[in-house]
Amino acid sequence: MEVFMHHCHHKLPSLLSRTLFKASKKSYIYCTIHTSPSVSAVSKPVIPPALVSRLFLPSNLREGQEGGDLTCRSQRLMLQTGLIHPSNPGCFYYLPVALRSMEKLVRLIDEEMWAIGGQKVDMPALCSAELWKKSGRWELMGKEMFRLLDRHNAEYCLGPTHEEAVTELFASQTMISYKKLPLLLYQVTRKFRDEQKPKFGLLRGREFYMKDMYSFDINEEAALHTYHSVCQAYGRIFDRLGLKWVQVQAATGNIGGTLSHEFQLPADIGEDQLLVCGNCGFSANIETIDPGQTECSMCQTGTLTESKGIEVGHTFYLGTKYSETFKALFVKASNVPAVAEMGCFGLGVTRILAASIEVMSSEDAIHWPGLIAPYQVCVLPPKKGSKAHEVTSMADELAQSLGNSLPNLRGEVVLDDRMQMTIGKRLKDAKILGYPYVVVIGQKALEDLPLFEYVGEFCHFNSHTNGIRTCLSDQLVAVMR
Ligand code: ATP
Ligand code: MG
Repeated sequence: MEVFMHHCHHKLPSLLSRTLFKASKKSYIYCTIHTSPSVSAVSKPVIPPALVSRLFLPSNLREGQEGGDLTCRSQRLMLQTGLIHPSNPGCFYYLPVALRSMEKLVRLIDEEMWAIGGQKVDMPALCSAELWKKSGRWELMGKEMFRLLDRHNAEYCLGPTHEEAVTELFASQTMISYKKLPLLLYQVTRKFRDEQKPKFGLLRGREFYMKDMYSFDINEEAALHTYHSVCQAYGRIFDRLGLKWVQVQAATGNIGGTLSHEFQLPADIGEDQLLVCGNCGFSANIETIDPGQTECSMCQTGTLTESKGIEVGHTFYLGTKYSETFKALFVKASNVPAVAEMGCFGLGVTRILAASIEVMSSEDAIHWPGLIAPYQVCVLPPKKGSKAHEVTSMADELAQSLGNSLPNLRGEVVLDDRMQMTIGKRLKDAKILGYPYVVVIGQKALEDLPLFEYVGEFCHFNSHTNGIRTCLSDQLVAVMR
């Protein structure tokens, strides 16, 4: 960083240098102290910007490789831009750019789960049939379950959900004190379901990522309290993503239990039909309402209006359905064992990723929830042979410094180094991929006080024409901070 600062000092306006210098003290120390550096000083490497010419973004699918009908916007955009690549029906390769986004989503979910006391675990995907026979779901799951035999002819399935496994895990611990409850265990893992009709890309896959949380409580009251706190956390996740969502009364299906809600994103391609009361806001999946009923049963006055949604989350209050069967016991204050009360809570991680693209994007350009955009900034250097070519190094330096100096942009910068292409063509690609900020280093950067052109939704300053605004480098840093 020190080398870099010296190198670019004369080129970048002093304000930018000062701002960057201030923000990058850590890296500076890293470069200059040679004796016994502290662990924190050596732990962070300089991350170079990702070069578009090197990104594994295979965007030229051969005819027929799309994996069935491209029936929805998110599937088309994700395949077109090389975020995902089709494999078997309902299975996809998640490519590097998509994975960045998914990992950000997982981190956001982690935060909200930790905020309510969740502890992350990772359970085997290979589940013994014994467990499922014990709960009675080995038969019930029918063809949706991927089943297999091991070399000893023992039956297994690839976990479609983990109520059996987690309850068995809890039950295997003797003498869990009431003081340990509520216990909230969750995981983010692949789930396997042999869906009758995998479709809409990641929205309905046969192999997908789910965040599933399981709660254990001392009694019904405590379990319902936990249930509501998880629902609130789910609401916060969707709020932070900037998604419009609705929580609806839902059926319990083959998971069971007595109380259940779904979290739905309103969307025309949604496969769930919802009824919402215009008066009190009561919302329900149509599966839970008597056929033909149009009056709201909650306020008795409003009418129910139908709409469609994509189910992105599902919560269940299970009571003792699984804990009875598996003898999931805890020890009460009176030293007497009792059956734990359970809840289970699913979030479709890959489905949320695709669904947010589905509901936020236009037909021809991805729009990400800002928090999970794969990269925050794309820097476009001038075209080779153009007048501005001599300021190419300014683009390299800007990309390098933005990506290392501001904590929120660390490792978040892409440099579109395909300089044989016009700015216009690269700008078009950048728009399709939906970077929150795109910075163009063009002719105006040749001026004494270099101006950068900048496309970004959060821009609050300066002149702008045709959606492109110009700004000084320090303003750029200030707005991205
Ligand atoms: P659906 O009714 O859409 O088939 P489900 O009710 O069977 O879903 P749950 O068992 O409630 O699903 O699973 C929890 C969450 O996992 C769902 O809310 C959804 O977001 C996600 N999910 C379920 N099935 C799939 C799938 N095939 N592909 C992607 N995500 C899925
Ligand atoms: Mg469901």
